[in-house]
Amino acid sequence: MNAAERFVKICGEVGNFSERLTGISVVDAYFGPEDFHPKKQSKEKTAIDLVHDIHQTFDALRDEIDDPLRLEYMMGELHSLNVVVDWLDGKDLSYSDLVEGLFHISMKKFSEHEIDKSIKLVTDAMSEFPGDDLRDKIRKYGNEGEITGEALQRLIENELQQRALEIAQEFKNKINSLMGASVPDNGVRYEAVQNEPWSGYNWYQGEFKSLNQFNIDRKFNRDTLAATIYHEYEHHVSNLWREKAFLNSSNLELSIVPLHTGRCVISEGTADTAKDFLQISDDDPRIVVLNAIYPLRRMTGINSAILLNDEGISVDEAVDYMVNRGYRTRESAEASIAFISPTTKDGKINFFAPYIFTYFIGRTNFVLPTFNKAVEQDELVKFYQTLYLNPYTGSSVTWNKAYEWLS
Ligand SMILES: [Zn+2]
Repeated sequence: MNAAERFVKICGEVGNFSERLTGISVVDAYFGPEDFHPKKQSKEKTAIDLVHDIHQTFDALRDEIDDPLRLEYMMGELHSLNVVVDWLDGKDLSYSDLVEGLFHISMKKFSEHEIDKSIKLVTDAMSEFPGDDLRDKIRKYGNEGEITGEALQRLIENELQQRALEIAQEFKNKINSLMGASVPDNGVRYEAVQNEPWSGYNWYQGEFKSLNQFNIDRKFNRDTLAATIYHEYEHHVSNLWREKAFLNSSNLELSIVPLHTGRCVISEGTADTAKDFLQISDDDPRIVVLNAIYPLRRMTGINSAILLNDEGISVDEAVDYMVNRGYRTRESAEASIAFISPTTKDGKINFFAPYIFTYFIGRTNFVLPTFNKAVEQDELVKFYQTLYLNPYTGSSVTWNKAYEWLS
């Protein structure tokens, strides 16, 4: 077996291991040859076996992979998988060791002063909106155009199919045409689901298709739904390019998409920056508000995760924090807690507990500053080519090196 084959095999095995212990596989998507399918890999391996195989794969990668960016990308992914195994095996890791080990970022709480500044921005953005005080204004804003339950389900399963075609066209017009490259796209199917810890999910199916699910237990209004649609659609687009790169290069590791690695930081960062990529106009005052609420929600979400997982506060206290400091309704705070809690309702390790950092850190520390620089220097063509034509740039481990040319 060559190094790339070992890499894909071990991803599948760690996926089977995480599925056994948490109900969720670390493998998010696979579109490679049937023999290397995660389902065909061992489901029995212990943590000791897996760590041993990971170390052998490290050696094989060092011996066989010449492209420095590809090597660094794969080593980073493998390192994260090693941390996944240690974590799920019960090794004594602090929450910050876990977050930093998985995502190659530093974990820090946002100060209450930063949160105050963010609240002030929301207050300013909402000065003309109706309501007694900020909390009342945000509640009214959320209720306006709210879509829930059956109406939401109908919207997702009918109108969104049409909306997806329009968004696909936006990506083609504004990004692909600029890059001077195209990618096959067999479309996205939308589905409404319930009882999931997330609000939306892109399941990339391979053969240039996705299934995008939206959780109808969550409340959406037309603005938050639109933001989620762009986010999930960008995941689809970035996976299309990855599949194309896999077919062109035959680099097997591109056919497997693991969670909880440096890749996720960039993938969630680009998804949270999709509206900027597409230059979606923010003339609408409701969008200005949404853009001001976004950092407040993300920052207080991260702080809640640290309070819960690192400082040991209770779920009720974390809900209070999100309500008081994130200006969420109690219902919305309670709905989002399942994603960040250390354990699930049935007492298992919550696989998603460290994941919340990827979105905001990916956007603010990696993707957005680089994108803004590219805009300033009139280098958007090369920015998109770097991002979408070379999948090895898409990791927190390789990102800065990949954009060194952007001085
Ligand atoms: Zn996402």
